[in-house]
Amino acid sequence: MPAPAADHSPAALAGGAQGTRALRPLVDTALHALARGATARGGPLPAGGPPAVDARITAAATPVLPERGTGPHEALRTLVQALAEGAADPADPHCAAHLHGPVLAVAAAADLAACALNPSLDSWDQAPSATALEALTTRALAALAYPRRPAPDALVTTGGTESNQLALLLARENARTGAHRPLHVVCGANAHHSIPRAAWLLGLPAPHILPTPAGTLDPTDLDKALGEHHTDAPRLVVATAGTTDAGRIDPLPRIADVCAARGVPLHIDASYGGPLLFSDTLRPALAGLDRADSITFDLHKLGWQPIAAGLLAVPGSEVLAPLGHRADYLNAPDDIAAGHPDLLHRSLRTTRRPDVLKIAVTLRALGRTGLGELIERVCALAHRLADLVDAHPSFVLHSRPTLSTVLFRPVNSDDRSTGSLRRRLLHHGHAVLGRATTPEGLWLKATLLNPHTRTDDLRNLLELVEGHTTG
Ligand SMILES: *Cc1c(COP(=O)(O)O)cnc(C)c1O
Repeated sequence: MPAPAADHSPAALAGGAQGTRALRPLVDTALHALARGATARGGPLPAGGPPAVDARITAAATPVLPERGTGPHEALRTLVQALAEGAADPADPHCAAHLHGPVLAVAAAADLAACALNPSLDSWDQAPSATALEALTTRALAALAYPRRPAPDALVTTGGTESNQLALLLARENARTGAHRPLHVVCGANAHHSIPRAAWLLGLPAPHILPTPAGTLDPTDLDKALGEHHTDAPRLVVATAGTTDAGRIDPLPRIADVCAARGVPLHIDASYGGPLLFSDTLRPALAGLDRADSITFDLHKLGWQPIAAGLLAVPGSEVLAPLGHRADYLNAPDDIAAGHPDLLHRSLRTTRRPDVLKIAVTLRALGRTGLGELIERVCALAHRLADLVDAHPSFVLHSRPTLSTVLFRPVNSDDRSTGSLRRRLLHHGHAVLGRATTPEGLWLKATLLNPHTRTDDLRNLLELVEGHTTG
């Protein structure tokens, strides 16, 4: 028998009863390197822009493939520190550009455990307990989305993009009538870019995109469009609960009414807004959500999960039938008949990581009200920032926030000056703000996802922006 690899060998394994002994000192090294990197950065983003970051990473990471290895501790120390030092850190209150959130420590710890175990959710014999945990967790989350359905279901995805793709695919397949008629997607101009991209990927006609000058899809316009275009063809309406640019929620009950009256299925992209379901006070903003034929959710946005943590919820498992696929080595009929769960129809991927563990750990650790409270906090922060902008003589507020996004810009700015102001803030590593274009032009976008941000952080943020505003 070969001797087992020593704990300190670079080839030590993370799993098994001995795995934690190898892992613990390495995790310690990685954690120290994370801390040193964050201290060295000293802000939300490294200063100097792409050339400075490229130079530092090239210096730290060359040679990428040395002839002889440097050992696990040196490699972790060097590369983890370099990555942390050059990171855009969403845990910094001034890092608020995108739907790119800080991660709960408990979720990161759970994800480490998932990495060490490495279950793969494409067959039961690679992931017995993860299969069972995923089934329980997805059903619980689906029940939150579809409280009045007896047996709703949800798939774990890599995020909103994959969920939206699956939703269009399921709509296409479930509309199949024998005659070859393509599915026509109807959505607002406020819909996420992954909707037209999914249509393109699936070989569908380009979506019929309705203008949304007010930021949300107008049910009257939608009704008119459904009455005029491709009335004989299978169709799908896509609405958004939490737009990426402004955090707006389409009028879901009226859109659901229109779809029901026209007999057209409805997909709701609630990548951003979906987690409002955890909050008793905010949930009413999602009224009508459960009338959708499918719902996209992201827990790596308003859910504080490490990437990736996406979901696609459906009212019943039968909707997922088109994903059924056979591979004898993974879901042989005799194995299935003997009671082994068939996992291939739970994703378009094959090898699939157990993203469900960090989600389940987080749900249990914080509970519904604990998560709801974090969501209430970031939405309240958005209102506070909007108040500060409103009261500030140097800034204009675009509109009151719906979720946790605030659009604003300096008075007397134009698109060019707003764009270069944003890049100056990035270049100095002082603040990471996003950009959003509305009919009124370009705005700075603050997407507040850090529940520990204080009012003073928001005041300082505005001071920083004002300090970098030059005409
Ligand atoms: C972020 C977002 C997506 C895409 O989700 P990913 O997780 O980035 O793939 C889709 N729709 C909306 C409305 C989003 O905000």
